Amino acid sequence: MSDKKTDAQTAPQKFEFQAEIKQLLDIVIHSLYTEKEIFVRELVSNASDALEKFRHLQLTEKNLPDDQRPLEVNITTDDKADEKTITIADDGLGMTSAELVENLGTIAHSGSKAFLKALGENGQKNANLIGQFGVGFYSAFMVAKHVRVTSRSWRADEPAHTWSSDGSGSYTIETAPADTPRGTSIAITLKDDCADFAGESRIKQILEHYSAFVSFPVNLNTKRI
Ligand code: ADP
Ligand code: MG
Repeated sequence: MSDKKTDAQTAPQKFEFQAEIKQLLDIVIHSLYTEKEIFVRELVSNASDALEKFRHLQLTEKNLPDDQRPLEVNITTDDKADEKTITIADDGLGMTSAELVENLGTIAHSGSKAFLKALGENGQKNANLIGQFGVGFYSAFMVAKHVRVTSRSWRADEPAHTWSSDGSGSYTIETAPADTPRGTSIAITLKDDCADFAGESRIKQILEHYSAFVSFPVNLNTKRI
């Protein structure tokens, strides 16, 4: 952070979450205490969706970037550093900066409205509801101090960007290094009481429950699950 860039393009731009997303994040961060591990399933399922969409593009588009890379989900954990982390990366279709804003900052598909309504109706603060309403990405904030999403779209000439937020009302977007490969990488810095999700065996155990249903290879710390 101290290495300040003067290039205007790389300066982080700040955005406010839409009101409903703020409300949703508030619940996710402060009221969902059980089944936190579902964030792994939600992010792997998003990665798998992105890979599936890229596979479709391969049928119709020419000159796709990094087209020879195997379509995979790569999860890495670090429980050694002071800040415990888990990163879930895919080389799927990626997102442009406009798509980062649209997909991660607004209610593109009204799932959050339905989610808030369902929570209000049965008073059941159940993390498992998250996936059903198409708001799975936000489940990361159950365990995260902050989330950094670095993405490069399959579209030629679109620079890579990093979306970053601690879930408290706003997020920033800045350009990412030019050598960022196609796809999306979601880096989660874990809350102190969620540090166990930086443990390889913990994540392996979670993945074994459902990775058989993921139609792409999943690697954990470079080992195939
Ligand atoms: P859903 O998966 O039901 O659409 P999510 O909250 O899980 O809802 O994700 C919101 C949107 O963010 C997705 O629809 C997709 O457009 C985008 N997104 C999330 N993760 C990724 C990813 N790994 N690669 C590309 N796009 C993604
Ligand atoms: Mg999803």
